[in-house]
Amino acid sequence: MSDCIFCKIVDGKIPAKKVYEDEDILAFNDISPARPVHVLVIPKKHITSLATADAEDTLVLGRILAKANEIAVSQGSPDGFRVIINTGRVGQQEVPHLHAHIVGGPDPVGPMLKRI
Ligand code: 5GP
Ligand code: ZN
Repeated sequence: MSDCIFCKIVDGKIPAKKVYEDEDILAFNDISPARPVHVLVIPKKHITSLATADAEDTLVLGRILAKANEIAVSQGSPDGFRVIINTGRVGQQEVPHLHAHIVGGPDPVGPMLKRI
């Protein structure tokens, strides 16, 4: 999609620090890291969010999760990590191109959510 910042990263029109790439997915460092390790893993194909993904996207979604540990270990989170996929308005997704945040580092990342 021409107006999408993550599609522009896929196309090389916006620079990013890539940490993994294959024919279907791309992983790069978040521009504003929340933890020592903060990588975004995206499908190269534009999918807006988990709310719009369909059955054809099953393989690429699986690939993102299947590669998460390898990416986390290679970036300095050898003892676990957290995967977050913010989705839509309620999930407070800011960039409308599906992405998994992989966050970690040497220390535990903190509580999952503040309880209501
Ligand atoms: P969301 O809130 O949509 O789940 O997360 C979007 C993430 O994308 C944020 O953590 C933000 O820092 C990151 N981000 C936004 N624009 C850019 C960019 O141009 N380059 C990179 N590397 N990360 C970005
Ligand atoms: Zn896109």
